[in-house]
Amino acid sequence: MTYQSFNPATGTLLKKFEELTDTQLEAKLAKAAECFLTWKATSYDARAAIIAKAGVLLHERAEELAETMTLEMGKRIDEARGEVEFSARIMAYYATNAETFLADTPLYPEQGEGHMESSPIGVIFGVEPWNFPYYQLARVAGPHLMAGNTLVVKHAGCVPQCAIAFEKILTDAGAPEGLYTNLMISHDQSDAVVADPRIKGVALTGSVAAGRSIAAAAGKALKPSSMELGGADAFIVLKDADMEHALKWAVWGRMYNTGQTCCAAKRFIIAEEVADQFTTDFQAALGTLEAGDPLDSATTLGPLSSEQALLDLLEQVDVAVKHGAKVLMGGKRLNRPGSYMQPTILTDVTPDNPAFRTEFFGPVAMIFRVKDEAAAVALANDSDFGLGGSVFTGDEAAGRRVASAVETGMMFINNISWTDAELPFGGIKDSGYGRELGDMGIQQFVNKKLVRTI
Ligand code: NDP
Repeated sequence: MTYQSFNPATGTLLKKFEELTDTQLEAKLAKAAECFLTWKATSYDARAAIIAKAGVLLHERAEELAETMTLEMGKRIDEARGEVEFSARIMAYYATNAETFLADTPLYPEQGEGHMESSPIGVIFGVEPWNFPYYQLARVAGPHLMAGNTLVVKHAGCVPQCAIAFEKILTDAGAPEGLYTNLMISHDQSDAVVADPRIKGVALTGSVAAGRSIAAAAGKALKPSSMELGGADAFIVLKDADMEHALKWAVWGRMYNTGQTCCAAKRFIIAEEVADQFTTDFQAALGTLEAGDPLDSATTLGPLSSEQALLDLLEQVDVAVKHGAKVLMGGKRLNRPGSYMQPTILTDVTPDNPAFRTEFFGPVAMIFRVKDEAAAVALANDSDFGLGGSVFTGDEAAGRRVASAVETGMMFINNISWTDAELPFGGIKDSGYGRELGDMGIQQFVNKKLVRTI
């Protein structure tokens, strides 16, 4: 059974859910397609009333939603509260701005006149991960529902209660049946959903393997897709950086969500002049983190999302060490109940080490030393991933130069890779394609139609 809530802080099974039968799935797809026929003709104001209300309900229920998330996937409670509030803001952002983003845009041909119209395309299928159980859903629901599409969503197997809670928010906000539908389905059923002619687009956030599988199915059916996959973001510190500032963000960037973030800082690329100081201070800062119950606000180190996630990460560290990496700190599970890992720093990871190209989805940092800015950029670009990255420097021009030269979808100067409702989020290379959030996010699944008069 795929859909099971386990508390990773204790290993306790909380609840199990049955997958949908094919007949139940068919009924839900039919409802989503039927709902599209009326929803696409609904005014922006009427759509916004429901999406904005969903934002308000997220805010009002923040405490219980955050607790559900913490129990299901181990996020520390303060971060969980922050995620719910952020999800509420995303819904409000699209309720307010969708009409402007999708307004007709004039064109200026040599003869006559023209404009581009944006219209909804139908039922969109979202496949979403457990690491930000509500934010990931808000990131598709806010834009695509405001654009006039309807949504069916397969959430990750380990966060079924979050998936149900989010669907209920939409229902309680007044969504008609079929507007937003949670699907507890298998991977085989997901393939069938992608191929179903009523589905007009596919949005996935998850691993590269999931991306390849779902994107291939979407390509076979000639459907547009957006893929937000993993990352191995570089965190570059140049010799003139404000070290205190860089250190603060290094800890946050690597350890937020216990390191289980696609755009987390994963490869620390440090100018040799400041590498010793950075490494000593970073190690000391990670050493102060205290494992505990993620429901307790005082806890500074939470568990990984599941026992399997922990075992996979430990295995990755073992492989790295077998190929010559040194463990500067950590590298083991914590001696306590639950799926906790020691904060870990690896050094001496050479290009022939599999770890060099790996995404460590947890509290494992790799530190590299470089001789100058050019070497930092070259190392940052020597990656299969291209999601985000950051550069810390006291020289504004150097910051912009590095930001332009690093091959990713997002770069941040004197800050970590992060996300805001207003800012397009997404990557290149194995990190995927397409953008979510901001103006670009709502343009992913609309028909951009040319209308010309002569
Ligand atoms: P997955 O990519 O397997 O899971 C993400 C979502 O995709 C889940 O809903 C999952 O469903 C679904 N999925 C996976 N494969 C298929 C498929 N073939 N057909 C249909 N749906 C599919 O991530 P994991 O949870 O296994 O994590 C593994 C690694 O993925 C992490 O270590 C990390 O590297 C990366 N990852 C990246 C994320 C990001 O934010 N970009 C988020 C999560 C993971 P189900 O749970 O039922 O398998």
